[in-house]
Amino acid sequence: MKIGIDIDEVLFGYVEAYCKFYNETHKTKFSPNEFHSYSFWEIVGGTREDILKSVHEFHKTKHFLETKPVEGSICAIKNIKKGNVLFLVSSRQDNLFDDTTKWILEHFPKTFSGLYLTNYFTNDASCRTKNEISVKLGLDILIEDQPHYALECASDKCTVILLDKPWNKNFNAKNVIRAKDWKEAEKIIGTLPKS
Ligand SMILES: [Mg+2]
Repeated sequence: MKIGIDIDEVLFGYVEAYCKFYNETHKTKFSPNEFHSYSFWEIVGGTREDILKSVHEFHKTKHFLETKPVEGSICAIKNIKKGNVLFLVSSRQDNLFDDTTKWILEHFPKTFSGLYLTNYFTNDASCRTKNEISVKLGLDILIEDQPHYALECASDKCTVILLDKPWNKNFNAKNVIRAKDWKEAEKIIGTLPKS
């Protein structure tokens, strides 16, 4: 099967690393558990523009490159790699392509057949949707944490496995299967019919 894997919060512990960076630069004491929403301004305050600026700063720091993989992801990815073709599908911007590649090669060497970025947060013509990429690649499964991407990509052809996160609590949709962690996601993949 062809399986698409999202990066942030699926492989890459973005919130935890960003929280650490934010606390260091603002002398605050937020805990990653307080990030119940991916609209970070709802947690730390300020405007969306403030957060976008801060996120771009974060991407230039060691906190970003030294971010740890999500718990259970390394082992699960190793297992699901057997007999399947894995692609990375992320909403990251094109300017993060090199750093993303570097981080992936460090933690998941020789694993993925391609890295596809939607270039979200840019309004130019190079902005793509996850669904466009998913359809182009012919994905059978997408592993995701954001409900709007799950909804966009789930179809009779593509099952979305949605990893439990505070920002997707109570979300359910047709062709979306929820998984509480990577172990459960791996089990679900084993039960899906091979295409
Ligand atoms: Mg994500």
